[in-house]
Amino acid sequence: MKKISYLVAAALVCAAVAPICACTPDEGRNITTYDIAVQYDGQNTLTGSVKCSVYNDTENALDCLKFNLWGNAFREGAFNSPVPSAMQAQAYYGGASYGGMSITAVEGGQWQVCGEDENILEVALEGTLYPDERAEVTINYELTLANVNGRTGVAESAVNLGNFYPILCAYGQSGWLEYTYCPTGDPFVSAVANYTVSLTVPEDFTAAASGQLDGSSSSGGTTTFNYRLNSARDFAIVLSREFEVISREESGTNIYYYYTDDGEAESKLTIAAQSLKYFEEAFGEYPYPTLSVVQTGFYQGGMEYPGLTMISDDCDGQTALYTIVHENAHQWWYAAVGNDNYAHSWQDEGLAEYSALMFFENTPEYGLTKAGLLGSATKAYRAYFSVYSQLFEGVDTGMERTLSGFSGDYEYANIAYNKALLMFDAIRGACGDGHFLAALKSYYSEYKFAIAPPEGLMACFCRYADCEGIFDSFLNGKVII
Ligand SMILES: [Zn+2]
Repeated sequence: MKKISYLVAAALVCAAVAPICACTPDEGRNITTYDIAVQYDGQNTLTGSVKCSVYNDTENALDCLKFNLWGNAFREGAFNSPVPSAMQAQAYYGGASYGGMSITAVEGGQWQVCGEDENILEVALEGTLYPDERAEVTINYELTLANVNGRTGVAESAVNLGNFYPILCAYGQSGWLEYTYCPTGDPFVSAVANYTVSLTVPEDFTAAASGQLDGSSSSGGTTTFNYRLNSARDFAIVLSREFEVISREESGTNIYYYYTDDGEAESKLTIAAQSLKYFEEAFGEYPYPTLSVVQTGFYQGGMEYPGLTMISDDCDGQTALYTIVHENAHQWWYAAVGNDNYAHSWQDEGLAEYSALMFFENTPEYGLTKAGLLGSATKAYRAYFSVYSQLFEGVDTGMERTLSGFSGDYEYANIAYNKALLMFDAIRGACGDGHFLAALKSYYSEYKFAIAPPEGLMACFCRYADCEGIFDSFLNGKVII
């Protein structure tokens, strides 16, 4: 995600029982598959079915499966608001509005909705799911969309379908990661899977989606789009009756820019293509057949999904261009190389920020220099530190904290973005430019489609230089900036 407030500175800168079956081939890799069919009514309701063939790639025998129900964060009475308090008025453009995700039936095991904030669907398997086996679960659900310029909701100019289906929780060292929605940051952590998605909408809607369009058909005033996307850790869609779209091929990838109101659309498509090309050359091949950059109503600057980025229609000029580059960098650092961004948000946000710096450093026509971006981040961080030092005795500037450990967006932006940017620049200084780039290439190739621990990232740099002390001083809040 990218925050508008910081952007300004940067621009100056578990029913039945699960049959457990043998592995089935899925295009060469044994990973979980989702077969999703959803219908949108053109207003506030999405009705869907998710057939999930769960491949146990853990080293543990599993008795139950757990799915995140992110859509429940938008229900009335939710424990955490999905929108920061300072952004409520901007996000809820028509006043308070609520949504929610209701599970209507599950085939595959006894089920219940649980978790700290009704955010988890638990499916208890009848038999144990051993490593390298599969269990199949079908979940029928209804998603009510709030009227909100948020990741999931009916925005003012489009319909945002991020987190629109129950998704299998990632499995960590201590079991399922049952994270709750946070008003600060992006709490979404999931393993890669292969997707087929059938989307039915009223025929006057245009759809932007994470996946490649396999075909479409029309019937009874509706259009059904069929998509496919492999090795993706999520799937998102944005719908609008107002979309215009332009496209271009770059390095074998079809890049689309969907917009509703943009007199400088070509410049957005151009920087999307330039940044994809630069990141491919710098880090490694872009992993998906298409990339859709989508202008939509969103209370923050932008939001990343595999193969799709939402860009707020509140962004314009250099801020919009910067946001596109930052979100495109997340295709490498979040989509392909995953990390636990609830616990280690600096990992992908810091890399996305530093990747944007590298792009602008190497693409001088935009007038954003390395020195300028580092200067803006330093200035913003020092201002944060000064304010928090006055407010709190012994201000904690440690970076290793969960999203719920930040006091709000201001602190989050300065720790996970600004301070992380400065940390990666210090690492670059220690490694030298060539080795720094080589380390990023190694990180991408070693952890592509995996969830990388922070130690894995650090090790890539520490091959070239003694970086442990730098990481320690930044992450543990000892460095003076
Ligand atoms: Zn981001």
